[in-house]
Amino acid sequence: AGAASLALALTACGQNSEGGSEEGKGSSEGATIGISMPTKSSERWIADGNNVVRHLEGKGYKTKLVYGEDDPDQQVSQVENMITQGVDALIIAAIDNKSMNNVLQQAKDADIPVVSYDRLILGSENVDYYASFDNEKVGELQGTYIVEKLGLKEGDEKGPFNIELFAGSNDDNNTRYFFQGAMNVLKPYIDKKQLVVKSGQTELTQVTTLRWDGATAQRRMDDILTKSYKSGKVDAVLSPYDGISIGILSALKSDGYGSKDKPLPVVTGQDAEVASVKSIIADEQSMTVYKDTRELAKVASNMVDALLNDKKPEVNDTKTYDNGSKVVPAYLLEPVAVDKSNYQKTVVDSGYIKEGDLN
Ligand code: BGC
Repeated sequence: AGAASLALALTACGQNSEGGSEEGKGSSEGATIGISMPTKSSERWIADGNNVVRHLEGKGYKTKLVYGEDDPDQQVSQVENMITQGVDALIIAAIDNKSMNNVLQQAKDADIPVVSYDRLILGSENVDYYASFDNEKVGELQGTYIVEKLGLKEGDEKGPFNIELFAGSNDDNNTRYFFQGAMNVLKPYIDKKQLVVKSGQTELTQVTTLRWDGATAQRRMDDILTKSYKSGKVDAVLSPYDGISIGILSALKSDGYGSKDKPLPVVTGQDAEVASVKSIIADEQSMTVYKDTRELAKVASNMVDALLNDKKPEVNDTKTYDNGSKVVPAYLLEPVAVDKSNYQKTVVDSGYIKEGDLN
C-alpha cells in the first residue's frame, strides 16, 4: 500500500508522465509503460523485451524494461519499483505465476492496468488482459510430431516404442497447458501400451523442470537412462522447450546415442532458438515450435495502447484462461511446428532468425 500511495502522490504532484492515471486513461501521450520480463538466459525473452519496447516507442510511449533473472522476489520488487515510479501501465511475463498477487493489488490501487504477457498470472483479479499463444496447441504439435515420426496411427498395432516425458517449470501456468496438449495426443497410445514410459514417470508432478533449466533436465535424463534403460533404448522424448531439449540431447549423446546402431530418439522443443534450429539442421533435435514473439509483442503493445486510450483491446478468446479469480480476456496467437523440412520457410524467410546466425 505504501508504494501505491507514493505512486498516487507522484501522480498528484504532476511528476508522473502526462496522461497517467489521473487523467482517467483518456490520453496516452507521453505515458510510460513498465515491462517486466522473466530472464535473459533465453533468447526469446530478450527478443520479447526489445520488441515490446520497439512497438511502444513507435506509438510514442516511454518504456522501462526490467528482467527478473528467474528470481520471483527480484521480479516482484522490480514491479513494485515501477509502480512507485508511477508507470502508467504494466506488461508482465511472470516468473512465478502466483508471486504477483500483492504487487498487482498495488497496481490496481494506483489505477495501473496490467497485461499478462505470454504466461498467465494466477489468483488475482487485477489482471486486465492476457496476450499469449494457443498454449495447448503447442503441446498438441509436439505430441503429434512424435506420433507421426514413430509412424503410429489410430487403430494400428504398431509399437511398442519407449518414450520419456519432460515438462516445464511448475510455477509457470503454461506448463500444464503444454503438457495437457501433448498428452491429449500421446495418452491413448500410452494406454494401449504402444508407447511405454519405462521410467514410470507420467504424471505432470513427476516430470516438471524448475525454471525450465536445461542442466536440470540433463541430470534427470541421465538418471532415467541409468535406471530404466539398462536394456532397450529411448525412441522419443517429449521436451517442452529448446533449452531443455539441448540438455536432454547432451545426456543422450553421453550415453552413446547418435550412432548408427543407436540413433537419437525423436526430441521435440519450443521457441525456435538458434542453438536448436542448428541442432535440427544437424539431425539431432527433431523439431521445435515456432512462436513469432514479434507478433506477441505487437498484440500486448496494442492492448496497452487501447487501455490507455479508453478503448477495448482486441481479444479472440474469452473462455479458456481462468486464473482462479476471473476468466482473463485473451488474444492467442498460433504456434507453428518446425523441423528440417520447413525451418527455412518459417523462421528464416520470415526474418525471425538471420540465415547467417545458423552457420
Ligand atoms: C513460454 C515458452 C518458453 C518457456 C521457457 C514459457 O512460458 O511460453 O515459450 O519456452 O516459458 O522460457
